[in-house]
Amino acid sequence: MENKSFAVIGLGRFGSSLAEQLYSLGYDVMAIDENTERVQDSIEIVTHAVQADSTDEQALKEIGIRNFDVVVVAIGADIQASILTTLILKEMGVKRIVVKAQNERHGQVLYKVGADRVVFPERDMGLRVAHNLISPNVLDFIELAEDYSVAEVAISEKMHNKSLIELDVRARYGVNVVAIKSGRSFNIAPDPSDVIKEGDILIVIGQNNDLKHFEEEM
Ligand code: ATP
Ligand code: ATP
Ligand code: CA
Repeated sequence: MENKSFAVIGLGRFGSSLAEQLYSLGYDVMAIDENTERVQDSIEIVTHAVQADSTDEQALKEIGIRNFDVVVVAIGADIQASILTTLILKEMGVKRIVVKAQNERHGQVLYKVGADRVVFPERDMGLRVAHNLISPNVLDFIELAEDYSVAEVAISEKMHNKSLIELDVRARYGVNVVAIKSGRSFNIAPDPSDVIKEGDILIVIGQNNDLKHFEEEM
């Protein structure tokens, strides 16, 4: 395994879950929070946990923050601290900076001060759940880029025992079936002649409008 190392600043629900997951996947994880209790709570789930204020450049130097391959800033409510931390990390020459944003505006500022990637966990999760609520057939929905997504769709009776050619999915809806899930088996290279059976789940990629059309027609 590639031995990438991560530092996670801010141990709220998002930061601590991320840190724990990275650590359990076998990576080196340093967890940082200004709150001593949060640091104590994460000692067991990461490689190292330290108390520090990430807006204090000296403190970050002492931790050796530059040596980590990826630094994640998961400070939530305190937007000012999140922006300032990102700026300091950039100036210190951190290789890859990933930051959690509260909203679009916050995200724009983060890119301007040097974030390599900005994530919007609440917005994205809201979107995923919304698609599932609107149409129960849509089990999951992940935005790939503005306007392009991947949807996990449970098929309706109309599609039972039909092949991709018969359904003419790409030509009719402009979306592409990238995988067919049948019980525990996963067909990740569907052939146009493959037949879809009751209970199958389709993984479909496409433009949001086309996906919506496809979901409605299903
Ligand atoms: P979540 O939704 O993931 O629970 P949140 O978005 O509500 O989190 P907060 O709980 O506001 O985020 O902040 C996450 C953590 O960031 C807190 O534990 C807080 O102590 C820490 N934090 C805030 N500012 C700093 C800072 N300057 N340096 C280090 N840690 C900080
Ligand atoms: P196209 O011109 O649409 O690429 P094609 O002439 O290459 O199609 P096939 O690959 O045999 O023909 O597929 C016939 C039709 O079956 C396609 O036009 C498409 O509508 C549907 N189809 C086949 N595979 C898929 C897939 N993975 N996802 C969506 N539709 C598919
Ligand atoms: Ca929150």
